[in-house]
Amino acid sequence: MGRVKYLIAGNWKMNKVTSDASDLAKEIQHQAGNQTAVNVVVCPPFTSLQSVSNLIKDSNVQLGAQNMSAESSGAFTGEVSAEMLRDLLTNYVILGHSERRAYYGETDEVVNRKVHAALENSLKPIFCVGETLEQREAGQTLSIIQDQIKSGLIHVTADKADSIVVAYEPVWAIGTGKTATPEMAQEVHSEIRKQLSELFNADVASKIKILYGGSMKPENADELLAQEDIDGGLIGGAALNARSFCGIIESAIRLSA
Ligand code: PEP
Repeated sequence: MGRVKYLIAGNWKMNKVTSDASDLAKEIQHQAGNQTAVNVVVCPPFTSLQSVSNLIKDSNVQLGAQNMSAESSGAFTGEVSAEMLRDLLTNYVILGHSERRAYYGETDEVVNRKVHAALENSLKPIFCVGETLEQREAGQTLSIIQDQIKSGLIHVTADKADSIVVAYEPVWAIGTGKTATPEMAQEVHSEIRKQLSELFNADVASKIKILYGGSMKPENADELLAQEDIDGGLIGGAALNARSFCGIIESAIRLSA
């Protein structure tokens, strides 16, 4: 069986006022909006979701959010619900990013509630897992990832699971310029695939895209994306510039041919 279509997602984090976000979205749409070989997703801040949504709606670039509430509506000041995201034609939502876990105290339990809220509202979760440097050096990488996956996906059924995207993002590689070697990433990705197969079944596990995230850029994209179980990338820094983001998309297009 061939590999699934690559997915290249840009996490813009807390960057870009609306006018800059629109400029970036236009440029990405112009360069990558007509190809169909690779799935492309941009995740602007909440404040730019509407304008970016309008700009990309007729193209092959899809919209993602960076977070959302586990609650559906009501007295939750400052929060944004899954339904509100769907209303803006959002397709994906990043959940459990290590920055949310580290700075905003998001636990596996909270992430799991958000995964369910997303699935119930037809949003595809980009569910992030990853170990810290300390955990890697203590030889705990695989057990940490397994725990995060088990707890984060608890009570998700096989019929819903194939719309989940898993992003393996070693915390020590995010925004640091340090990248996991392709072999290090592949080792973790293949373990994740094995675990997904045990949790659901082999067919579902083969359909779930497993992205790598952590200082991916055009210079290292080819060798990372060439790994058997790396189905795409979640890109931070290099996603803020159309040229570097589209350079990674081009790698994926080349490898799909
Ligand atoms: C991220 O935060 O999801 C990420 C992968 O960031 P960077 O590409 O900057 O390491």
